[in-house]
Parts: sequence; structure tokens; C-alpha cells
Amino acid sequence: MSRHLGLDVGGTNLKWAVVERDLEPRVLKTGVLPTDTRGGEQSVVRQLLDVAKTVFADVEGVESVGVGMPGVLEPEAGVTKFIPNIPGHWDGVQVIGPMTDAVRSPARLINDARAFALAEHGFGAGRGARAMLGITLGTGVGGGLILDGQLYLGHEGTAGEFGHQTILPDGPRCGCGNHGCLEALARADAIAAACGQSSVEAAVAAARAGDERAQHGLREAARYLGIGASNVVVLLAVDRIVIGGGIAAAGEMLLDPIRQEIARRVHVTDVARITVVAGELGIWAGAIGAALHGST
Ligand SMILES: [Zn+2]
Repeated sequence: MSRHLGLDVGGTNLKWAVVERDLEPRVLKTGVLPTDTRGGEQSVVRQLLDVAKTVFADVEGVESVGVGMPGVLEPEAGVTKFIPNIPGHWDGVQVIGPMTDAVRSPARLINDARAFALAEHGFGAGRGARAMLGITLGTGVGGGLILDGQLYLGHEGTAGEFGHQTILPDGPRCGCGNHGCLEALARADAIAAACGQSSVEAAVAAARAGDERAQHGLREAARYLGIGASNVVVLLAVDRIVIGGGIAAAGEMLLDPIRQEIARRVHVTDVARITVVAGELGIWAGAIGAALHGST
């Protein structure tokens, strides 16, 4: 039996989970607090270290730390590069060095969508999948790949950047600098705008209540997501796609058109055996995945 801490920091909240690895892994303890962004990157990193030190003092036998963060990271150096959704100047910020010093234990850094994929594959809706695509829908569109049962990180840990594949060659500009990325079409504020609503939650509620513009907006977003997912299925033959994030609450209203789009476009593998499902771990997936990553 071993215990591992995972931290998942976003622009709004910092979540943590202690995972116990035994014959059957389980989540021992979780916590959440508002991210301290008052001092930019410095206060965020300080808070990460403080939370880790507190958990190490309170929970016996924690052996490692994984830190999940949104954006572009240099996981091997333990340094951040570009994090648009947490206030601060994130180019070249040391996270893992100070963490290792603070808790005197091994620590590792991982992109939050990769952590989501790892957690859902190990504990949630991706259990048993040989090849899995995890998709996180929120402020951005993230992704992570499990290939032959293992998290696949690729060059500089950036494999799985599902949201930054081009869907419309001359589409809207994306935060990454490209035009027509899936993220520019299917991130939360783009979906809300396409639905004529102020948020994705309002868009889902309006679509459920029969609002035609909202229904159309959601179908369009699902179509773009389905095109992106089809590209991944063709290239990597994933047999499971697990979708998480706020808009996953739309459930079948979102999942079904994605399945239809895959069935329409993929003709090189048996799509009837590819499952598209919602994540099972809710808001804790990122912290759990970070803990799993830190434990390896
Ligand atoms: Zn992009």
C-alpha cells in the first residue's frame, strides 16, 4: 500500500486528493479551496506548496506529489510555460523544484487534461480501455491519450492537445495563435455565444427547455467535437472516448451527436465498438490523475 497526493490548480479553485494504491486503488481524502491569485504566479505556487505541506503533515505515509496545471508546461523540467487561464506571468516558473524541497519527496508536473485522462482510465469511465481519448470541455478544450494502456505524452509532454487541431481552415482565431482550432469553436464561451446564452450552463438549460437557437448551438459544437474525435479515431483507433468538464452535464444532448458524427466519418475501423461516454470522477478527476502521475 502507498499514498500519493495530487494537486489540481485552476483559475478558480485548487483541488487536492490523496490516492491510496493497493490491489484496488482508492481515493482516501479530498479538499478544495479558492486559488490564491492575488499575487499572480507567486501566490499560486506558494499556496500549492502550503497545501502540500499541510497534507503531508496531516495524512500519514504520503510518498509523492503530482501537480496538474492547465496550459503548456515543460513537465520534465517541472516548469510552466504558458497558462492563459490563471493570472500571473507563467513563462519559466519553477513548480517542481520548490515542491520537492517543501515536502522532501518526489514530485511531477502534468497538464490537467492529461491528468483527467489518466484518472478516468485508472478509476473511472475509461477502465479497461486499450486506447482512450480523454476530452475536457471548459474554459478551453483539453485532451489526453492512453495508448496500449499507458498515458502517452509524446514530444515535450504535449501529446493529446485535442483542442488545437484545425477544424475550419479559416475559422476564428484561437488563443494559441492558429485559426479554426476546435477550441475556438467548442470552448465554453464559444458554445454559450453560439447558443445565444451567457454561459454553457444557461445554454444547456435553454436547450433542454426547447430553445431552438440553444439546441442548434449545442448540435454545432457537438458536430465540431465529433469531427475532431473522428480524426483521432482514424489516426489512433481509440476504442473509448471519455468526456468531462462542465458541459458534459448536457449528457446525451452532446454525446449522441458526437457519436453520429463519428459514425458518419469513420470508415476504417468498426465504430460500433467505440464508446463515447461522460467521465465518472466529476471535479476530482484532475487531482486524482495528478496523484497517479506523481506515483509513477
Ligand atoms: Zn489553438
